[in-house]
Parts: sequence; structure tokens; C-alpha cells
Amino acid sequence: MKEFNRYRGRFAPSPTGPLHFGSLVAALGSCLEARARGGEWLLRMEDVDEPRCSKDAAAGMLRTLERLGFEWDGAVMVQSRRTARYRELLEALQAAHWVYPCACTRRELADSAPAADGAAIYPGTCRAGLPAGKAARAWRLRVDDAVVAFDDAIQGRLTQRLGQDVGDFVLLRADGYFAYQLAVVADDADQGITHVVRGADLLASTPRQIYLQSRLGFATPAYAHLPVAVNARGEKLSKQTLAAAIDSAAPAQALLAALRFLGQAPPDGLADVGAVWAWARENWRLEKVPRAQALPASTAP
Ligand code: GLU
Repeated sequence: MKEFNRYRGRFAPSPTGPLHFGSLVAALGSCLEARARGGEWLLRMEDVDEPRCSKDAAAGMLRTLERLGFEWDGAVMVQSRRTARYRELLEALQAAHWVYPCACTRRELADSAPAADGAAIYPGTCRAGLPAGKAARAWRLRVDDAVVAFDDAIQGRLTQRLGQDVGDFVLLRADGYFAYQLAVVADDADQGITHVVRGADLLASTPRQIYLQSRLGFATPAYAHLPVAVNARGEKLSKQTLAAAIDSAAPAQALLAALRFLGQAPPDGLADVGAVWAWARENWRLEKVPRAQALPASTAP
């Protein structure tokens, strides 16, 4: 296990479309917290789900971040180039018998109770071996019944009993792509991330990530989950809910709206991007971020 003394944060968007207000909030919160702690801030393109992502969207996001005055450290990590690393980790888990092949289809799991994130709680059908005549589709991590607990810097203490709340979860998908849970754990470890600041839509995934980190011998970073921006219908801003792209012709306004959403109180009269960043770097306080998992975005359509 590697030791990291310095604070190292990251922003890890999925390039499925243009940067919107919800992703800007995660970018700004993670960046300002890293800078306030004298740390580094890295960028990663989470395009492991390749069919849903595009190179154009990734390039567009980087361009918008630049126009908004973000400065990141080092090269951008790109998940679609890291398949060999994910395979190596899966093979280590296979050798230790912590993963097993699964033949279940989505339809076969449709009757299982849903977990917090809407996916089916895996009933364990293939745990003791593939049913006769069935072929492996995916690979799942075997979870035990222990309670996984962590103290989130914004949301407080969270506990989950993986065995009962989630079940054995997928690391290699039936379509051949690696799952987000494996990629994010591998990447946070390989980038030496000490602090993860991201949207609270990923709270329910965190115990899975902590469990997988321990299986792989990786350190567990500290977590802070920001409130997620929702539209007037209470839906998370995303490409699917048709969130508006950030207007990079008005960068100071976009940053100010994100700061206010995060509970900071920038004064009137910060006219340009430079002035907003100078104020934000000086005055950012994580403890002012509202302790909510979701909040309406004033800019939502
Ligand atoms: N790629 C994820 C998203 O865009 C974020 C993952 C993370 O921060 O761990 O929602």
C-alpha cells in the first residue's frame, strides 16, 4: 500500500455531453477544497462506459473548464486507455476467488428487490457456480455481511450492509466493459487520490468502493459528498434530463452561481473570472456547504 502525505483531489466527469451546472458544482467544490488544503487537483475522464461517452464531449468539457479558469495538475487520466490495468486487477481478484462468473440476465433479475441506486439487489444465483448449461456473462465481486461505515465530511456517518443492501456486484459487465466501481477504485488508487469530493448521487456507491479497495489492498481516501443539483422536477441535472450546457461566454456568472449553490457568499461586484477565483480561493469553506443530498439549482431549466 502506498502512503500519500499530501492532499490530492480530483474531478472525474463522465463525458456523455457538455459540462452542465451539476458537473460544474462538483468541479468547483473539489477544486477549491484541494487548493484550500494546499493540495493538488487532478482530472480524469470517466469514459469506461464507452458507448455512452464521446471524445468530442471530453474535449468540450476540457475547453469549458479552461474558459472558466480551472487549472489542473498533470495529465488528464482517460479510463478508456486503462483496460489492461482493470483486467490485471480483475485477474488478481479471480486468483483470490473473490469474484465469480455470473450468467444472470437483467430480465432474470427484474423481480429482485431494488437497491438504493435502483439496480437489483443480487440474489446470489450464480454464487456457488454457474447453473448447468449457462454461460458466463459478467463477473461479480463476492461481498460478505460485514457493515461498511465511513464518515463523510459533509453528509456525516454512513453505514451499509453490502450483503443485504447491494449484494455481490458487477466488476466486468456482460457487454465486455469494465464497471464504474472497478475503474473508479483503480484510478483513485493509481492517481494517489487522498480526498474524494463529488456529488451525493454517489453516496450509495461509496461502501462498495471502500470494500473493493480493501480487497485490492488500496488505501481508502476521505470522502465529502456535495449536494446534487436537481431541476424543478427533482431530477438530477444530466444529459438525460436535458440539463443546459454551461455558457462559457459568461464564465464569471457560472462560477458565481455554483459558489452560491455550495453555500458560499461571494460579494456583488466580482466582475471577471480572475476576481471570482481570487475571492473563492481565499474564502472557500467546506463547512458552509449545505448538508443536503440534493438541492434545486436556480439555473435549472
Ligand atoms: N464519473 C462520475 C460522474 O460523472 C463521477 C464519479 C466519481 O466522482 O467518483 O457522475
